[in-house]
Amino acid sequence: MQDPFDLAAGWLQEHLLLPLLYQVGLMQWEDLSYGWALFAVYGAVQVAATFAICMPLERWRPLERWPDNKAVIVDMIYTVISRVGVLPLVTFVLFYQVQVALNGWLADQGWVPPTLERLFPALLGRPLLTFVAYAIILDFADYWRHRLSHRFAWWWALHSLHHAQKQMTFWSDDRNHLLDDLIAALWFGAVALLIGVPPMQFPLLVLVLRFIESLSHANARLSFGAIGERLVISPRFHRAHHGVLAAGQRSCNYGAVLPWWDMLFRTADFSREKVETGDPGAPEAMVSGGYIAQQVAGVQRLARAARRRPAAPIGRPRPAR
Ligand SMILES: [Zn+2]
Ligand SMILES: [Zn+2]
Repeated sequence: MQDPFDLAAGWLQEHLLLPLLYQVGLMQWEDLSYGWALFAVYGAVQVAATFAICMPLERWRPLERWPDNKAVIVDMIYTVISRVGVLPLVTFVLFYQVQVALNGWLADQGWVPPTLERLFPALLGRPLLTFVAYAIILDFADYWRHRLSHRFAWWWALHSLHHAQKQMTFWSDDRNHLLDDLIAALWFGAVALLIGVPPMQFPLLVLVLRFIESLSHANARLSFGAIGERLVISPRFHRAHHGVLAAGQRSCNYGAVLPWWDMLFRTADFSREKVETGDPGAPEAMVSGGYIAQQVAGVQRLARAARRRPAAPIGRPRPAR
């Protein structure tokens, strides 16, 4: 029997992607379009699985209740666009293309890039361990990307869209400005190329890591316990990152999957209990507008930040987050 993922991907390729590629004259992508379709199917299944796990958790132990969930619906749109459309395209099609081109160019120069297994022979023949090692390195890179996005005014103007949500749920993970997403994809992709993540593993890594990130945004009274919380990021830990800061309080908990980097670089705070989320400085369109209005508000905030002043020097956090 044929794998149901294969069947669904084949259907998607035949009925949607191929007609689309022919229409816009991108027939050379025909071979790759199956991979794209497959990861779009994985993305859709991931959204369904995340929903099946997080929804009951939010119902079971909700942290906050709201009169209506209009703001949450916009986050759902973000999730579907990102997981089913953009992420499979970026993580499979583009990453694959760039990696093939780069490896070809390097081979022409007579240089074979090092792989993680060659650098650490203990990983040889242990694909699962190698996969985990890739995930840890990518998560470390993501900690720094996220931390820097809070430090520079122009970058914060974009990232603040993620923080503007006052009704945070597991859907909120993908609530990002497209430009911020683009920077994140380039950053993540560059590190993945540097450490030689194989093309088929990269989208899988993104799938696994993003599931934990979704869970960390859940509107659920959920902690993993004193030890568990120090192993993997819990909703309680990430919610503290989204908290409106009191006077004199510093932003904390930048990690996405592992809290280790926050502990190592002294930005972890495990003590903050049920905090209010949101960004008091965000324009209203960014908080309660639709998808397009939020994107436009992000660009406008970026333009204002670019006009105002240069980036704050490294080492000095910006106030009022
Ligand atoms: Zn943040
Ligand atoms: Zn978040």
